[in-house]
Amino acid sequence: MTRTPLMAGNWKSNLNHVEATGLVQKLAWTLQDKRWDAEKSEVVVFPPFTDLRTVQTLIDGDKLKLLLGAQDVSTHDGGAHTGEISAKMLAKLGCRYVIVGHSERRTDLGETNADVQAKAVRALVEDIIPVICVGEGLQTREAGEQIPFVLEQVGGSINGLKPDDIARSVIAYEPVWAIGTGKVATPEDAQEVCGAIRRYLAEDFGNEVAEQVRVLYGGSVKSSNVVALMSQPDIDGCLVGGASLQVEEFAAIGRFY
Ligand code: PGA
Repeated sequence: MTRTPLMAGNWKSNLNHVEATGLVQKLAWTLQDKRWDAEKSEVVVFPPFTDLRTVQTLIDGDKLKLLLGAQDVSTHDGGAHTGEISAKMLAKLGCRYVIVGHSERRTDLGETNADVQAKAVRALVEDIIPVICVGEGLQTREAGEQIPFVLEQVGGSINGLKPDDIARSVIAYEPVWAIGTGKVATPEDAQEVCGAIRRYLAEDFGNEVAEQVRVLYGGSVKSSNVVALMSQPDIDGCLVGGASLQVEEFAAIGRFY
């Protein structure tokens, strides 16, 4: 089973729509210079909601091979829910992916596994692939409890999903202590948890499903550590925060192979 590597750039709450235009254009040129092949790695940008239309227009107009994703989605299917953005709206904007359950939302907004599951379900109905984020905090890591902790998050976040839907989903393992800190997990530590996630999926849903799911690592990924991370058997890509705002860095990550 070959899984296409996925390099996901999570811009978080950075870049307005004018700045987004500049970054996407430069990223596309730089990837072209580096002879990036979209068949060898999918490169996806996840701008804030206010930039999505602008980036979509750029991707369509210039026939860029970059893909578009959103950073969150409503659990509601539209209607009287002030401030919410539905999966249908994201699908219409050409979003192919959506991040759900990022640790910043789990921590800042109290998102639960049940919320994450509901968001993943909404996305899948609209044919948007959820990037389901999980990851332990420092205390859990220091107690050596990272695997049971992460597997419980995975189980709760995909609870009730159909095996076919799980197979096309993406799971991003992002240890909270590695996010934005410059402290990247070692490739072996990242592999340990990513491998445990795949074995867990295999036990519950069978090998065929588990072999299709792409498992990403996230947390202080840079061009200097991406190759070592990607050489691990169960790491199929990276979810990148800070380095996705730097064109040269993110282009090098996309062209890691
Ligand atoms: P970082 O963020 O790459 O800045 O550590 C990763 C993330 O939060 O997705």
